[in-house]
Amino acid sequence: MRANATGRVLHDPKGGSFRFDAGAVCLDFAHTGGEGQYAVFETLHEPADLGEWLAQPPLGAFMTVPVTARELSAAKTLRQAIWDAAHAQAARRPLLAETVATINRAAAAAPLIPELVADGTTAGWAPPVRAAQALSTLAREMIELLSGPLSGRIRECASDNCPLVFVDTSRPGARRWCAMERCGNRHKLRALRARQATDP
Ligand SMILES: [Zn+2]
Repeated sequence: MRANATGRVLHDPKGGSFRFDAGAVCLDFAHTGGEGQYAVFETLHEPADLGEWLAQPPLGAFMTVPVTARELSAAKTLRQAIWDAAHAQAARRPLLAETVATINRAAAAAPLIPELVADGTTAGWAPPVRAAQALSTLAREMIELLSGPLSGRIRECASDNCPLVFVDTSRPGARRWCAMERCGNRHKLRALRARQATDP
């Protein structure tokens, strides 16, 4: 998994879409939908939807065993835990014991096993490739993220009313927005209008 290959196009249920790079695959995964007020953003409706998401880059985990309903449900539980953990860390709040336990439980399963393809320069995943393994890989990435040097770079978008979370992997570490084309430009426009309003 290359850090610079993360990011997905997110769709707004009211229309429109934008590219959002959460900086880590596990964090991208946390934005595939949610519970409660975030249920309208759900993209994982069927087990096959999960398989399709996991098959996309940078993970590129093509399931050789169809995803089960049980795995989809486990995926959503893990997704919520990653979301909760990222927000807690971004706010410098301690993680709930339940959140920690959920991530650890997913990580305890066997992860995806890397495999060198015959050409010797391409990597894939050794079959059988199951969703539970991919979830373990995502949970392990989240553990590394929370316990590693970039944990202090986990942030919520600086825009009001934007709950998107990301890890700032940029060298200067000054990333503020989920996406420039969404919240960044909105902020710039507002600042410009405010300036124009005060100009004589
Ligand atoms: Zn935002």
